[in-house]
Amino acid sequence: MPNYLYICQDCGKRFSRFLTYDEYEKAVVQCAYCKSANVLRRIGRVRFARSEDSRMDSMADMGDLAGLDDDPKAMAKMFRQMSGEMGEDLGPEFNEVVDRLERGQSPEEIEKELPDLGLPGGDDFSDD
Ligand SMILES: [Zn+2]
Repeated sequence: MPNYLYICQDCGKRFSRFLTYDEYEKAVVQCAYCKSANVLRRIGRVRFARSEDSRMDSMADMGDLAGLDDDPKAMAKMFRQMSGEMGEDLGPEFNEVVDRLERGQSPEEIEKELPDLGLPGGDDFSDD
């Protein structure tokens, strides 16, 4: 069940509520401290949920990853797009790999030169 964070506009305190999506649409959330209904939901959860949805969409659109092996630049572009949609900095190793792909290096060459990395792909993107 999603845990929604709220901040009370009246007393300024933060609290969280567990709501199902169904409850969330109907529930009138009151401050846990002063019972005020003048509360704002903090948006972290929504942004995260949306990025998960778009990630699913882009995964579905990706089709056969193996076909990209012949086109490192297309692969680099896809990785950058995925990274952007996830709203995450995937770190220097990821950027290094993408940079090399954009320079036209094949994934095989990159793996040889950067044996510790391995290429990101598939399940490696399913973070928390
Ligand atoms: Zn309050």
